Amino acid sequence: MALKTLQDLFVDELKDVYSAEKQILQALPKMAKASSSPDLRRAFETHREQTENQVARLDTIFKQLGASPRGKRCKGMEGLLEEGSERVQDEGEEAVIDAGLIAAAQRVEHYEIAAYGCLQAYATLLGQEKAATLLEETLQEEEAADQLLSKLANGGINQAALSVVGESVEEE
Ligand code: FE
Ligand code: FE
Ligand code: ZN
Repeated sequence: MALKTLQDLFVDELKDVYSAEKQILQALPKMAKASSSPDLRRAFETHREQTENQVARLDTIFKQLGASPRGKRCKGMEGLLEEGSERVQDEGEEAVIDAGLIAAAQRVEHYEIAAYGCLQAYATLLGQEKAATLLEETLQEEEAADQLLSKLANGGINQAALSVVGESVEEE
């Protein structure tokens, strides 16, 4: 597509993150189901609800812009979630799998933080204050989600994974 203005880039990147959020909505219930730690499961469930709100914020922004949210597939998120689905399917020790689910989810959160940070900056530069505020709200939720995952990892799940006594199997 032709990117002639920052506004063009803003809309295109909005479509990308809209696609990303829609994909995440499908993935989070599977991540929750694969979690053994009740705290981790709750974190994924809560983030699913937040993600619905994030999609609604994007819908509001697209409405204000008079643009359609459709037309783009976020390949970055597709790849991240493909890796995450490996963890969902993995068999083994519960704590180790939980640690792996966190690692996959934090990659997703960091991708979103990068996307929303850029979008929020563009909205501000373009003088679209309402959009900037909505994007900032989502950015803060993504940052909080990332921090909660770190807290769960460092607050017991990684240690539990370390404590598992088993034989590592090198595949291939
Ligand atoms: Fe999100
Ligand atoms: Fe993308
Ligand atoms: Zn997120």
